[in-house]
Amino acid sequence: MQEAIGRAGAPIDGGRSAAERVMVEARSVSKHFGGGDQVVKALDAVSVGIREGEFFTLLGPSGCGKTTLLRLIAGFEHPTMGAILLDGADISALPPYKRPVNTVFQSYALFPHLTVADNIGFGLQMLGRPKAEIADTVDEMLRMVKMEAMRDRQTAQLSGGQQQRVALARALAPRPKVLLLDEPLSALDLKLRKEMQVELKRLQLETGITFVFVTHDQGEALAMSDRIAVMSEGRILQVGSPHEIYEHPADHFVASFIGETNFLTAAVEGIEAGQVRLRLGGALEVRAGLPEGMTPGERVTVVVRPEHLRIEAAGAGAGLPATVGDVVYLGTDTHYHLRLADGEALFARVQNRPEGGDGWQAGDAVAATFPPSAVRVLRD
Ligand code: ATP
Repeated sequence: MQEAIGRAGAPIDGGRSAAERVMVEARSVSKHFGGGDQVVKALDAVSVGIREGEFFTLLGPSGCGKTTLLRLIAGFEHPTMGAILLDGADISALPPYKRPVNTVFQSYALFPHLTVADNIGFGLQMLGRPKAEIADTVDEMLRMVKMEAMRDRQTAQLSGGQQQRVALARALAPRPKVLLLDEPLSALDLKLRKEMQVELKRLQLETGITFVFVTHDQGEALAMSDRIAVMSEGRILQVGSPHEIYEHPADHFVASFIGETNFLTAAVEGIEAGQVRLRLGGALEVRAGLPEGMTPGERVTVVVRPEHLRIEAAGAGAGLPATVGDVVYLGTDTHYHLRLADGEALFARVQNRPEGGDGWQAGDAVAATFPPSAVRVLRD
């Protein structure tokens, strides 16, 4: 489901508060590479509005088109159809250097023969800014990325994390309206990547610049973003906050791409008062929100996150009768793999307590329960 962005030609931010003003808009953008039988549809009528001052992430598997969308915003590519707007103006035909946009690449692309300070000031020099202004901005950027002590080092002598900070400072120095970040953390080890996630978020809040971040790492997207666009095969499937995307996935792809989840098939017993009444595993009756356009008699898929499942002793009350399979202790929590009577698999993640776990073991007969609020219903 693509986010509605207004009628064609209508101002997208009409009536919205300043905080929700749209800074970057893709309007029905398609991008095709090659031609004839060999045509690759990298983007297929993508529409999205990225708000001013937000940390917006394009998330999806390799080849889904996220880098192509970023390159269209930067101006390195041009749309086959549709338009890219920046702050309300159509910039589709502008070359990259005429756009108030900067990009941080995975490879950093620093000048190895220049010092840290000269790298940061390079863009400002190219723009012909006065020397005093460049010096002040370089000082401010060095402070911002916590690299003051290394200002005179050559960038070839820096660690990967330090190079990343310099690349960020260099891209932020001309104060672009939009900073594009193409998988900038993927070359860093896990610990450094987590540190840089916090740093990036801090930099974005401190500068107020609109960040458009590309990643295939859902954890990274959830940790940093104000909103996420989940992409697959050249289309945007859902746009929403991390909570909306995780707890209210729009379809099977989003539910399975973001986090771990259980999919259960269910029979619809009835539709009443905006809710759907389902029967799961022949045993459990559940009421849940009604998917759009749903009619009685359809088969549906029920999505339940593993952390929302509870395991109780068999026969203790309502629940799905199941048998415990593998039990994996992971310190913070224990993973229980369950098998329902009809053969369907379920996976529960139970937080461990200091006094010990629930103590379920392989072969135990149990009942799996979950609160109605944890259930999402998707049409098959
Ligand atoms: P990754 O995470 O691997 O970078 P991505 O989601 O960023 O993937 P894109 O790089 O946008 O995906 O590519 C989308 C599709 O367009 C892919 O099928 C890719 O092979 C194709 N593509 C991208 N650039 C070109 C090009 N210059 N010529 C031909 N095909 C291209």
